[in-house]
Amino acid sequence: MDSTSLAAVTSWCPHAPLQRVSFDWLAGVELAVLRLDLIDPLISGNKWFKLAPHLHAAAQQGARGIISLGGAHSNHLHALAAAGQRFSFPTVGLLRGEPQDTPTVRDLQRFGMQLHWLGYGGYRARHREGFWADWHARYPEFCAVPEGGGGLFGAQGCTTLVELTNEQLAVLGWPDYHGWWLAAGTGTTLAGLVMGEGGRRPVYGALAVPLDHGVPEQVQALLTQAGLANAGYQLIEASRGGFARRDAELLAFMEQCEQDSGLPLEPLYTAKALMALREAISNGLIRPGMRLVFVHTGGLQGRRAALLAGV
Ligand SMILES: *Cc1c(COP(=O)(O)O)cnc(C)c1O
Repeated sequence: MDSTSLAAVTSWCPHAPLQRVSFDWLAGVELAVLRLDLIDPLISGNKWFKLAPHLHAAAQQGARGIISLGGAHSNHLHALAAAGQRFSFPTVGLLRGEPQDTPTVRDLQRFGMQLHWLGYGGYRARHREGFWADWHARYPEFCAVPEGGGGLFGAQGCTTLVELTNEQLAVLGWPDYHGWWLAAGTGTTLAGLVMGEGGRRPVYGALAVPLDHGVPEQVQALLTQAGLANAGYQLIEASRGGFARRDAELLAFMEQCEQDSGLPLEPLYTAKALMALREAISNGLIRPGMRLVFVHTGGLQGRRAALLAGV
């Protein structure tokens, strides 16, 4: 019917401000933040950049809408549903577990996303052959986007972050910078930065999940696919014991950073990434005089659930 609405996405090039930020623990390291949390009032974070190539491909195929998967706090589904609302294309979300009422889920509904709760077993079946055939039969002309908008497409969407940053360097008065610092979950965004850099400036990924959960292998596979097998990047354990694990020290650090800089953070990714940066500065991996770009990957919508839980 109206593939034109999905096509409208392709002409949107969001702007993310690049801002100087200072913390007392930077100890001579200069930091600028690429504010992906500010690209749009509704659509936020790295999830938009990972989605963009998927949406462009879907538009090109004349798809009518998008179907994807995630959990009850998913930043990915949130960005997708928000984009659907913003550009008037239908979205379907397949959710992990039993029906839950979270701030994220309420937003998804408000944005008009059609939700289906798959249970835990049903969600695990997403890798099974025939899984998508059933959903395609139910939603013909809908394009499926993998969980989190990952894969090579997702990484390619993040290569533009390099340009977005470089065109704003003059505003900071920076002649250049020495590398990137960001939170990594699947490492797709990190891989996109490495691709955008062509292996030039190093990219440091503060890993929000334990190192032995397969992310290094995944990143390597993505970069090999992109022809950049030995490119400059480093993954640093930053999970503090597990994904979504929060402790008092992290929360106090987060609050202090927010007070000192005015930068809004959340505990799963961005606060952990900054804490890992403080550590890297104190152990000498990052040295005084280095200029780094920290990518604020967003995720602030997910913070509401943590606040409700008394965190
Ligand atoms: C998903 C997410 C990440 C991790 O992105 P990957 O591309 O999976 O590494 C980091 N920060 C926030 C806020 C996210 O929502």
